[in-house]
Amino acid sequence: MPAPEWLATVPGVTREEPLARHSQFGVGGPADWFAQPRDVESLTELLRGGADAGVPVTMIGAGSNTLILDNGIRGLVLRFADRHLRRLDDGAVELGGGCMMPRAALDCARLGLAGLEFGIGVPGTCGASVYGNAGAFGTEIADVLTDCTVLTPHGESVVLDGAACGFSYRHSRLKDQLRGHVVVSARFRVHADEPAGVRARTDAIQAQRKASQPYGVRSLGSVFKNPPGDAAGRLVEATGLKGRRHGGAQISTKHANFICNIAHASAAEVLTLVELAHDEVMRRFGVDLEREIIVLGEPAAVAGSAVP
Ligand SMILES: Cc1cc2nc3c(=O)[nH]c(=O)nc-3n(C[C@H](O)[C@H](O)[C@H](O)COP(=O)(O)OP(=O)(O)OC[C@H]3O[C@@H](n4cnc5c(N)ncnc54)[C@H](O)[C@@H]3O)c2cc1C
Repeated sequence: MPAPEWLATVPGVTREEPLARHSQFGVGGPADWFAQPRDVESLTELLRGGADAGVPVTMIGAGSNTLILDNGIRGLVLRFADRHLRRLDDGAVELGGGCMMPRAALDCARLGLAGLEFGIGVPGTCGASVYGNAGAFGTEIADVLTDCTVLTPHGESVVLDGAACGFSYRHSRLKDQLRGHVVVSARFRVHADEPAGVRARTDAIQAQRKASQPYGVRSLGSVFKNPPGDAAGRLVEATGLKGRRHGGAQISTKHANFICNIAHASAAEVLTLVELAHDEVMRRFGVDLEREIIVLGEPAAVAGSAVP
């Protein structure tokens, strides 16, 4: 794609930016163009410019749920970097779209605000967590969100309440009918409580997470959604694939619904394991597991090696 002149003039926009560097998972090829707008005005300008110039715009957050493919993403990739946390007069708390959920959980505990403790188990941004209705240990975004402000692909600001977000299990309308809308901030119901008590609940969730999931190693969270009445991890484990390695990627030895980047994995290697786990569960149990991870970008011209 010829470099649009307007992008070359916008401060902070970089060319051929390696996205592995911006993803917790550490995998992914380059973005044609990349920027991290810090406020709504800069983000609006980039969205409007992209729409006017016909340049595709892709949002990323912390990359904790997204596999970026090896040939990267064409067009303009944006990571919204407004990370504010603000108490509002009505008692709610507002998070910027770029605020990390674990940070929000810890800050709320310090402020004696209960309700966002589950955020400690979701190592991603507020914006992406609204997009995917993230949840952990019994609470999800849909339970606590009052409303959020989004920008349309043309940069118009719209406020959506919970019903307008159309939440269901790891889903919101931002994934289909409102595709291309960007979450810039969200407001959550919280209530005053003893800081020590909130912190204790937050720590308990963190301890449960450390005990049951790979920790301190790069992963994408749950690879598959849990099918009704069962657990994807149990099914993958029952196929005997726990610990299976392909190149630098490995199905976690701790929890079979996680794939870890243990040695500079390529996206192709990760996808090979995703497909292997899916196909084995289908073959053995007749269950068609649905991916929870999001795949963005373009594969390398030469695909990875055959299924191990
Ligand atoms: C160890 C580990 C444990 C995890 N545990 C959980 C868990 O318990 N529960 C759970 O739900 N998830 C869990 N996850 C997955 C992940 O943390 C969540 O899905 C999180 O909400 C993703 O945030 P992110 O910023 O990393 O998003 P990314 O992976 O960067 O992006 C996800 C999607 O959001 C879109 N997006 C990004 N920013 C915006 C925005 N501002 N507006 C609109 N769309 C946007 C992107 O285009 C992409 O499609 C876990 C992940 C890991 C690595």
